[in-house]
Parts: sequence; structure tokens; C-alpha cells
Amino acid sequence: TYPNYGRIEGHVVMIGFGSIGKGTLPLIQRHFDYDADKFSVIDPNPDSAAFLAEQGITHHQIAITRENYRDELGKLFPEGKGFCVNLSVDTSSLDLIKFCREMGVLYIDTVVEPWAGFYFETENNSERTNYALRQKVRDEKAANPGGTTAVSCCGANPGMVSWFVKEGLMMLTRDLGRTDPVPTAREDWAKLMQSLGVKGVHIAERDTQARAKPRPRDVFVNTWSVEGFIAEGFQPAELGWGTHEKWTPENAHSYDTGCQAAIWMERPGAITRVHTWCPTPGPQFGFLVTHNEAISISDYFTVGDAAKPDFRPTCHYAYHPSDDAVLSLHEMFGAGKQQQVHEILDVDEIVTGIDELGVLIYGHEKNALWFGSRLSNEETKALAPYQNATGLQVTSAVLAGMVWALENPLSGIVETDEMDHTRCLEVQTPYLGPVEAHYTDWTPLQDRWEHFPEDIDETDPWQFRNVLAT
Ligand code: NAD
Repeated sequence: TYPNYGRIEGHVVMIGFGSIGKGTLPLIQRHFDYDADKFSVIDPNPDSAAFLAEQGITHHQIAITRENYRDELGKLFPEGKGFCVNLSVDTSSLDLIKFCREMGVLYIDTVVEPWAGFYFETENNSERTNYALRQKVRDEKAANPGGTTAVSCCGANPGMVSWFVKEGLMMLTRDLGRTDPVPTAREDWAKLMQSLGVKGVHIAERDTQARAKPRPRDVFVNTWSVEGFIAEGFQPAELGWGTHEKWTPENAHSYDTGCQAAIWMERPGAITRVHTWCPTPGPQFGFLVTHNEAISISDYFTVGDAAKPDFRPTCHYAYHPSDDAVLSLHEMFGAGKQQQVHEILDVDEIVTGIDELGVLIYGHEKNALWFGSRLSNEETKALAPYQNATGLQVTSAVLAGMVWALENPLSGIVETDEMDHTRCLEVQTPYLGPVEAHYTDWTPLQDRWEHFPEDIDETDPWQFRNVLAT
């Protein structure tokens, strides 16, 4: 009874079989035809060996490295066609994209991942940014346009949230009594956002999933990759920087090369707090953790010249992870060292909670619109196996991206902003639980602690100066 999205010709190779890989597997099995004996998984971790053996899936128990990727992947795609699904940490998205396209193999990932060592061994903070990582992929797209499709950054965020921005903009258009058609070109999307009076977008998330057991001390607990979260949490805070901003943080740096859509701050994202809003808590703190979509969305919706745009929205992540993850961050940054024990909350141990992940589109006539998925862990269990709510929001985006790639196999390197959001959401929405729109009259000037003077701009609520918590 599940929709079939067609046949993948050639080999299917999944790199990385952690929380996201394991959750993506049943969706691939459910929705695509392929030769089962041509499906394999690469992951150095022996823990998944028994599970994969039970499923009859070949497990290559090795790590993909800068030194071996051409040999190892080359062997696994002997026919020069197939699909490489990269759901691993520590593998260079850029190198894998180039090699897959050279071979004629479709490619998808959920983050622009670097080779191992990048996050903590790169000395210069400006080179440790997602701006730097993303720009190299954009430069490769510009240098080698077209060709075999490689979908960059197609998870929940980055990924699905870019489709939500477009869906939210069309809803706002209608609710303002306008009849603009759905744009088809990037420039027209950007002009639509500008004409709606939008100033920016928070990727506003509240994860309330929790298990019964209190978090043990010295353990980092998260609802998805601990390694991935620590790596991005220690990167500098970064955000797409809008044309309405009148004030810039003292510790901010901008760029004069590349898309120039973002700034970064001399501070780790996971201890940089912002005022934000989600339907369940209402006003809340989020962490300004750097993410690819903060830059790609600001870049995509830019009107005019990159260096001196007529319009550009501010865009950043405003992430309230699960309460256990908040405590884990607090402990890690306080101690100045990472916990050695890592745990990802398993779907069966979670006793309560939802992952509420959406876009808060703000600054327009109706103030702010949150549009997103409010998927509970309970509902997730009924939808797909081996994952919690956070996982399913990511894996169903991978599914949608794979469908789009199969249907558009010669579209070159693309980000999710550049894909058909209607088609992608059509595939993904059945896995997202309630997808809801909420207007709110909240602004970052409201619900503050009033006993202390603050450096804010009371004349203009949606300034980043008011969003950034001191
Ligand atoms: P995880 O830590 O649970 O699993 C990662 C897996 O990769 C592990 O099984 C590990 O053994 C394997 N691995 C490590 N190095 C490898 C190598 N060199 N070659 C092959 N395999 C290797 O992580 P996860 O939660 O499954 O996340 C996977 C990726 O997805 C991460 O990069 C993460 O940042 C990303 N992610 C993206 C989103 C999004 O919404 N865009 C959300 C969650 C995770």
C-alpha cells in the first residue's frame, strides 16, 4: 500500500549506518525497486553487523577516508550507475559528490560533511564555518554545471525546512489576500519574499522527547548523532544576514568572497542563545547552532547583487534540543571537555515528547508565521521502524530527495532550495505527523526579564540585536 517511486538501476550504497542510516533503510526498502543483491552498507562500526546480516545486506566494515574513497566506492559501482546515499560523519561531501558525478552515480547527503579532523583541527575559525564548507560545493556547481544529480544537504534541516519556507510564503500570500502564482524561478521567489515584507526566518525547533531515566552525569544524550551535534555546536555561530539589520554584533565577521550572504561570530553556536518561538512552549531560548540552511536560504532569497543586495532575509537556526541534550551541552561547555559516553535516545525508551521543527517567517504584516512538523515519538512508531521523531523528519527528507533525484537525474549539484518543494513535500508529508501553520503576535521584544537594562532596539522588534540573548 506504500507508493512506489520507481526503480534504482545499478548499485545502492549507503555510507554510514547510524541513527539516520538505520532509519532511512526501511523507507528505501518500502518505496523503491532495486536489485537487493546490489544494496550494501559501508560503516566501520561492528554494532550493526548482526542487524545487516539479518536483513541480508552486505556490510563493508570499513571507514571511507580521503585515501581510500576512490578505490572503495569505485569497486562498489562497477556499472557506472546507481545511488550513493551518504549518511555518515567524517566523509567529505565535496569529494564524494565529485567522484559520484564522475562515475554517473546519483548522490545525496544531509550535511556538507568534511573529512575527519576538520572540525577540531582547523585553526582558523573562518575556515571552520559552514560558509566555507558550503561555498566549496557552490563553487564546484558553478565550475561544473549540470550533469548527474547530486543533492546536497537534504535532511530535515538543512533540507525539509527550505521546502517549508516556500510553503509558508505561499500560505502568507493567500492569507494576505494576494493571488501571486507559485514562483518557478529563484529570482521570483526572492522577489515574492521581499514583497511580502518578510525580514527573516528562524529555523525554530523544540524537541521535547525524553526517556524515564534521568540523564546520568558525564554522558552526552541526544536524539540524533552526538558526534555530529558536538562538531557543529563547537563551530562558530553563523547566520544569513539580512538587509534590514541596523546593528552588527561586535564579534561578527563578514565575507568579501563567495555568496556573501552570511556572517559568523567568534563564539561557539551551541552556547549562543537567541530568543525565538515555537507553538508548544511559545517564547523560548534556542541555540544559534550553525547550519547550512541559514546560509542557503539567505542566499536563495537575495534580490540584487550579492555584495550590495536590495533585499536579503536574516536566517538562522534557533534550536532547543531535547532537555537531556541541553543538560549535556551545559555540562560539556562547563567542563571544557567532551563526555566519553554518548547515547542517542531510542524510539522504545522515549516515554514522552515530540520534535517540533518549523520555520518562523517574521517581520511581515501578520507579524510571524510558524510552519512546520509536530511529530511525536508515538506517531513515529506507527509510521516507520528503527527511529525516533527526529530521525523520521530527517529520513523522510532523504526519501523525498532520492525520489526527486531519480525523477531529475541530470540536474547537477542542487540544494533543497533549488528543488521542486511541492513534489518533495508530497513524498515526505505522510511521515511528518501534524504539519501545521501558526500565526503569532510574539516578537523578541516581548516576554523579557524587565529588571535589568538590555542593549536592544525598542523601535524595531525584529532586529537581530533583540533576538540575540546576552
Ligand atoms: P551517527 O553518529 O548515529 O552515525 C554515523 C555513522 O557513520 C556511525 O555508524 C559511524 O560508525 C559511521 N561512520 C563514521 N565514520 C565513517 C566513515 N569514515 N565511513 C563510513 N561510515 C562512517 O549519526 P546520524 O545521527 O546517523 O547522522 C548521520 C549524518 O547525518 C551526520 O552527518 C549528521 O550531521 C547528519 N544529520 C543531518 C540532519 C539534517 O536534518 N540535515 C539531521 C540529523 C543528522
